[in-house]
Amino acid sequence: MQPGFVVVGAGIVGLATARELAHRFPGARVTVLEREPEVGLHQTSHNSGVVHAGLYYPPGSLKAKLCTRGRELLQRFCADHAIPYIECGKLVVALDRSETERLDALEARARANRVPGLCRLDRAGLQGVEPAATGVAALHSPHTAITDFPRIARALAAELDVRTGFDAVAVEAYGRGAVVRAAGTGEEVAADRVILCAGLRSDLLAPDGAGPAIVAFRGEYWKLAPVWAERVRGLIYPVPDPRYPFLGVHFTRRVDGSVDVGPNAVLGLAREGYRRTDVDLRWLAGLARQPGFWRMARSHWRAGAHEMVGSVSKRVYVRRAARLVPGLAPADVTRAPAGVRAQAVDPDGSLVDDFRITRAGTSGQIVAVRNAPSPAATSSLAIAAYICDQLDA
Ligand SMILES: Cc1cc2nc3c(=O)[nH]c(=O)nc-3n(C[C@H](O)[C@H](O)[C@H](O)COP(=O)(O)OP(=O)(O)OC[C@H]3O[C@@H](n4cnc5c(N)ncnc54)[C@H](O)[C@@H]3O)c2cc1C
Repeated sequence: MQPGFVVVGAGIVGLATARELAHRFPGARVTVLEREPEVGLHQTSHNSGVVHAGLYYPPGSLKAKLCTRGRELLQRFCADHAIPYIECGKLVVALDRSETERLDALEARARANRVPGLCRLDRAGLQGVEPAATGVAALHSPHTAITDFPRIARALAAELDVRTGFDAVAVEAYGRGAVVRAAGTGEEVAADRVILCAGLRSDLLAPDGAGPAIVAFRGEYWKLAPVWAERVRGLIYPVPDPRYPFLGVHFTRRVDGSVDVGPNAVLGLAREGYRRTDVDLRWLAGLARQPGFWRMARSHWRAGAHEMVGSVSKRVYVRRAARLVPGLAPADVTRAPAGVRAQAVDPDGSLVDDFRITRAGTSGQIVAVRNAPSPAATSSLAIAAYICDQLDA
């Protein structure tokens, strides 16, 4: 008899996983359970839309491997489904000599990750690629692309059995299978294997006890006025601080032709707190009880304060962005919708960097995606294959 699978969470990772299961086990029952009324409403539709080429990730890490493979799979998927996939390229710009050493380190990493077409540019070279940008040197990744992740999610869902409005509150191993219980009705859905891809809620359901907590970081964007959007051709990034590779406001071209500046990263006050006024005191109290949260706060308060200043002051935010694209002024941007990142934090307070996928139950029948931050949208189809490989084993 074919096994039955339940995937909890219809974000891009859960949907990609369900599709991969359906392909690998033809005839098997694969059901996706989603608490929202539609698929892909959270991180999948509140991100930068960038298909990363793998510049940043430690060689050999899951991120490095799955980003490279994921990009190839995603490009093919977009071609097959007539979804925009635009190789607008990405420039990582060193503003002065003090940043070129970090650019060197990034170049070495990107070469180890075999980022296709990567080249090093001087000031004239970088301005040839992005005339509006300034800096002393840059790395150019011409195959970094942009796409429409929500559309990809909908295309994946169209091939699948997705039950929306199912808010899973508990997952328990049961014999060699597992049972997922819904909030409210208490309805139970049983399966041989359950895969949890719950994004911002992944710590609520995970069955393996003291894993990482999820801390929500709001990422705020500003949209460039059309006259400025015309001047930015692709993606312009600062050289990342190796301690905080996800920080650093950048210029992001969208598939609709607009250009956003952002995101920053400020502590979210609610799990899905897209607006500054979204505050969930119960959730915050739970977070405050996590030892990892306070250790993280102690280690990273300086970076947090820096981000906070940019969040409350548009002038400061734009001034920081204008270091990459001079001349930009506060009047040239308007607020765009924010996203919220699910960042796993270990009990020792360290930010979990790599993707983390764990198994629980007597026969490993419950698989939990515990950390899937950027570039998990890029990597989603490869993460799906990785999860299925683990199940096959
Ligand atoms: C600001 C920002 C910018 C980013 N930029 C990029 C980028 O440019 N490129 C890139 O590759 N990645 C980017 N990322 C990361 C990327 O968006 C995420 O890694 C990816 O979307 C994660 O997908 P997911 O399916 O794990 O999570 P989600 O998309 O959050 O999906 C999780 C789903 O699970 C559902 N769920 C949760 N709990 C339950 C429950 N109890 N019962 C049922 N359903 C449940 C939720 O409703 C949701 O639909 C960015 C992220 C952010 C926030």
